[in-house]
Amino acid sequence: MHLFGLIGQPLTHSFSKRYFTEKFEQLGLTDYRYELFPLASINELPALLQANPSLLGLNVTIPYKKQVLPFLSASFLPEGLNACNCIRIRDSKTEGYNTDVIGFEKSLVPLLKTHHTRAIVLGSGGAAEAVLYVLDKLGIDHLTVSRKAAGNKIINYYDLSDELINSSTLIINTTPLGMFPLEDSLPSLPYELLTDKHLLYDLIYNPAKTAFLRLGEEKGASIKNGEEMLIIQAEESWKIWNA
Ligand code: NAP
Repeated sequence: MHLFGLIGQPLTHSFSKRYFTEKFEQLGLTDYRYELFPLASINELPALLQANPSLLGLNVTIPYKKQVLPFLSASFLPEGLNACNCIRIRDSKTEGYNTDVIGFEKSLVPLLKTHHTRAIVLGSGGAAEAVLYVLDKLGIDHLTVSRKAAGNKIINYYDLSDELINSSTLIINTTPLGMFPLEDSLPSLPYELLTDKHLLYDLIYNPAKTAFLRLGEEKGASIKNGEEMLIIQAEESWKIWNA
């Protein structure tokens, strides 16, 4: 048995099990399985590994991408990036990787125009780490908006000025607001200020068009959901598990 899976909580929104199950079927890998492992706490990870010696790889999702770091035997994360969404398991050792970075970068770059020089990133969790890493790499200036604003380049939602919205034509949602089954929720933004110069990128892929994207589109903004990023990061995880 070759076992792979996803850890997180809750896992109701998971696409990965369906994606990898179909992949294994297409490749004729009859003794491969991908399972969901909802963990009430990341402290349950060692017991999960012990109970499943055939586990070869895990994906990590909300809310454990940062919390999982102390549980890694070795880290292959890009320097300065403190979030892991992919674990390779060999001889009971856990190797941490981040495939969100390549997924976000490859899906964003073709959409960028010359005026996308400043970005607003909504949320400061695990996925935001990958987003900020890519923005730095691309030389796009950025500001994070967090409910618990503190520190350099982080502000609260009520500090978002008209000037900031006007000048930050790339807005990226890394919060779970709008994700199934809470499809009516959305980040608190002055949507009326959005224009056709704005590009709204939502890391959420279910539903395909969140309220955040819908309101942006109504104002003429370009929109992108998280599906392509998801597929790229899944394929990158598959490569790492097979390396
Ligand atoms: P996470 O670590 O829990 O971070 C989410 C962040 O969103 C939190 O740190 C928080 O930031 C903010 N947030 C949470 N609840 C909120 C609320 N009620 N109101 C406002 N802000 C809230 O989760 P994650 O792993 O980064 O994932 C975030 C989202 O991205 C999920 O929807 C996930 O499915 C999606 N995602 C998609 C892909 C893809 O490939 N498409 C990859 C990764 C993640 P503050 O506390 O700073 O406000």
